[in-house]
Amino acid sequence: MDLTDLTIKQAHQGFKKKEFSARELALAYLKKIKQTDKDLNAYLSVAEESALSDAELADKKIASGNFSELTGIPCAIKDAILVEGQKCTAASKILKNYTAVYDATVTKKLKKEGSVILGKTNTDEFTMGASTENSAFGVVKNPHDKTRVAGGSSGGSAAAVAAKEACFSLGSDTGGSIRLPASFCGIVGLNPTYGSVSRYGLIAHASSLDQIGPMTKNVEDCKIVFNVIKGKDKKDATSVESEIQNSKFEIRNSRIGVPKEYFAEGLDKEVEKIIKNAIKKAEQAGAEIEEISLPNTKYCIACYYIIVPSEASSNLARFDGIKYGYSDQSQKTLMQVYYKSRGEGFGLEPKRRIMLGTHSLSFGYYDAYYKKAQEVRKLVKQDFTKAFEKIDLIFCPVAPFPAFKIGEKADNPLSMYLVDIYTCGVKLAGLPGLSLPAGNVGGLPVGLQIIGNHFEENKILAIAQELENVL
Ligand code: GLN
Repeated sequence: MDLTDLTIKQAHQGFKKKEFSARELALAYLKKIKQTDKDLNAYLSVAEESALSDAELADKKIASGNFSELTGIPCAIKDAILVEGQKCTAASKILKNYTAVYDATVTKKLKKEGSVILGKTNTDEFTMGASTENSAFGVVKNPHDKTRVAGGSSGGSAAAVAAKEACFSLGSDTGGSIRLPASFCGIVGLNPTYGSVSRYGLIAHASSLDQIGPMTKNVEDCKIVFNVIKGKDKKDATSVESEIQNSKFEIRNSRIGVPKEYFAEGLDKEVEKIIKNAIKKAEQAGAEIEEISLPNTKYCIACYYIIVPSEASSNLARFDGIKYGYSDQSQKTLMQVYYKSRGEGFGLEPKRRIMLGTHSLSFGYYDAYYKKAQEVRKLVKQDFTKAFEKIDLIFCPVAPFPAFKIGEKADNPLSMYLVDIYTCGVKLAGLPGLSLPAGNVGGLPVGLQIIGNHFEENKILAIAQELENVL
């Protein structure tokens, strides 16, 4: 048996029956990483020693009989989430030598359960991108076709799970960064409702949209991880204790909305077929299917790419060459240290966003850009609110196409931004969404996106679990 084939649940059963130890499971994953990651580049750092000491602790817990489903389970964490004592680079040169001095709340929660942290995964620089090509440390290859991207920005977290280099991982989603790579790599990825998971210890991209979420081999594992990481945290004022109702929810009692604006020009025909097939399967299982309209979809990309760079320009101001990371100390004046450190430390995409965002927020342009975008954001949110008055969930694609070729969009920021067309509206509205493997086009996975109302992850997960078996 290859231990890296096991899901969280199966590995947990294995521990219960004493079939193998946490150390053996950790070693199996570390070996897999050594064998395959040189090529994939999913990890930016592997913490072999501390993973083995986590496993030793887990074995003690298991021996005592007092252990949980995540005890001894090896995971990978996106390199934008802090793990005390380990490097956290956000895949940027500016943080190349930065070591985290505290744990993110989600890290703390995983440690409390006794999870084994294998290392930190590659991402687009400061989580800005849709292909992980914006990493300062090399692109992540898609395990299904190494000439293609793994998606982004949590491309490392997705590829690690898909290539069995981790049993599960954590990613973060600002405009699609969990769901898109999950779709491209054929795994399950959940972007939780804004506020349901603490952002404390997540390097900020756009604070009014960023959320951390699980990336797993199947839906059951996703539920397990989500239940551990969610909840109110006094260190993140936007976090709340979600009242997730555990009432039974089934496809046969569900009303599913299909947004007509999402099935328009630009959607790959094969992807469309796969999504329509998933919708048909839900209908056969008793769901009521209804066409809905999200009329402001056409403004989502423009709105997102004003608000997100605006917030990013402010968030990235803290990387000044003084407080954190890379600093060019050869300069004579403070101003020159700022210019040089930021100029050399940041890559192209963060620079682009700092400029766009600063412009949108500047006196004279604020009303025309930032304020206008906030008004449009309200309209996008209203579209979803209206839709959820008569439906439980929305079914749609995650992306218009399967994983694209490495380099195909790298030189054209606008075509890269358009990849987010089906995922960024959800974020503007603060809603939860999941990517569920639904089929493949010529060996490339395609995800179905299941969007729910605020804090209704339970409905999303219940339906996804039911559908998982028939897709
Ligand atoms: N592609 C989107 C962007 O670049 C989403 C990134 C994300 O969710 N972190 O902003």
